[in-house]
Amino acid sequence: MTPRELVPREREIAVIGLARSGRAVVMLLRKHGYTVYASDVATSPETGKVAEELRGLGAVVDVGRHHVERIARAGLVVTSPGVPPSARPTSTSRENNVPIASEVEVALNFIDGPRIIAVTGTNGKTTTTALIAHLLRGLDIDAAEAGNIGTPLSEIALREQQPKWISLEMSSFQLHDTPSLKPAVGVLTNLSPDHLDRYSSVEEYFADKARLFANADAESVWVVNKDDKAVVRMVRDVGGHKHWFSVSKKAEASLDARTGQLVVMGAPLLARADFPLLGQHNVGNALAASLAVMAADRSHQTPKARKGIAKALTTFRSLPHRLELVGEFGGVQWINDSKATNVSSTAVAIDGMERPTVLLLGGRHKGETYATLADAVRRKVKRVIAYGEAATIIATDLRPVVDVVRLGDDFEEVMRAARAAANVGEAVLLSPACSSYDMFSNYEERGERFRALAAKEA
Ligand code: ADP
Repeated sequence: MTPRELVPREREIAVIGLARSGRAVVMLLRKHGYTVYASDVATSPETGKVAEELRGLGAVVDVGRHHVERIARAGLVVTSPGVPPSARPTSTSRENNVPIASEVEVALNFIDGPRIIAVTGTNGKTTTTALIAHLLRGLDIDAAEAGNIGTPLSEIALREQQPKWISLEMSSFQLHDTPSLKPAVGVLTNLSPDHLDRYSSVEEYFADKARLFANADAESVWVVNKDDKAVVRMVRDVGGHKHWFSVSKKAEASLDARTGQLVVMGAPLLARADFPLLGQHNVGNALAASLAVMAADRSHQTPKARKGIAKALTTFRSLPHRLELVGEFGGVQWINDSKATNVSSTAVAIDGMERPTVLLLGGRHKGETYATLADAVRRKVKRVIAYGEAATIIATDLRPVVDVVRLGDDFEEVMRAARAAANVGEAVLLSPACSSYDMFSNYEERGERFRALAAKEA
């Protein structure tokens, strides 16, 4: 397949943001001879280095500012998922009718050969995406994970040797500007309110998720969650073949409560006890990933392939910052779930707790109520430590059901309070239900601080 012409060659393509995906897409566009203007408001030494590198490849690069008039004249604007639609460069491109594409949309144009399993949903995307690639590799297949998980699709498109399969994590923001996506298999893990700081309503957010199905036809293959009413509703009229998974109902991939087996495509695959991740939600992720890999190709359904998939499930390890046991210090378990940045992901984390728990909740409020955590909190949590910008709202929402200590934005103080509250045999869980941007640069930094301080607090 010859890539289609993205814009006439005399027009400029503007790339907004020079983080990893911005850098990769500029390299890809330059490799294919496009004229590129790239800019980032950040002025960090890292951005400066990237700018130099890209200038060396012939791109025009601005650091510390966006040349908005120049962007308005571009033939195409490529945005990174971190840039909100309200930001000047994107709003200006919209006002001037400049087409906007995600980095993934551009990269898809240069991906020829590999087949794509695309994964979206509110929670469990990264885990499921990583699982799918791991299971494919368990079948001795050359597979790569890409997209929102960390490796931009453009980096894969730049490789000399393309993998056979790509497991591609898609956020709602990426889906918004990726109209060409037509995966071999599409996976929708679940749907619940999130990102209400960037969307004006839940419907608007769900509508972006629904773009996974935009190019559905009779040949399409989907893997979807039978336990989730919003998912069932969304895919009702979508064309193609639907493979359902469920942790509580009969489905093509399900958990047999009687035998404790994960049952996929008509036969037991593996005992739950042999899959190492904590929490029932991760059983759902394992079922979705196994079903996606098997549905992707008939050769993945043979008895030998099933054995390979089952073995690979046993060797998958939890990803950092996702219900990750940091250690047991002074008889207290310290669990880092910093990636839980919305209320529904925190709810599953609390449900998965086996010990009385001190819960660290807080950060930048994203618009959801914390009152929906009340049932789970009542069952498992002895004290909530509410901190950061959201502390007051959390305290108001949860004081009726649990003891809440309200603190400010000193994370060391938060950790000292956690240590003081937790007794031998109990657990401290960082599952904040909020974004980290009020106190940290991202959720990884928040999780690393937790890890470092947990060991110190011991
Ligand atoms: P995402 O990439 O969608 O943010 P991750 O796999 O990184 O998802 O997991 C993020 C958090 O979401 C985890 O820390 C966990 O608490 C929660 N989570 C993971 N899988 C699921 C699921 N299937 N359903 C609900 N919550 C989940």
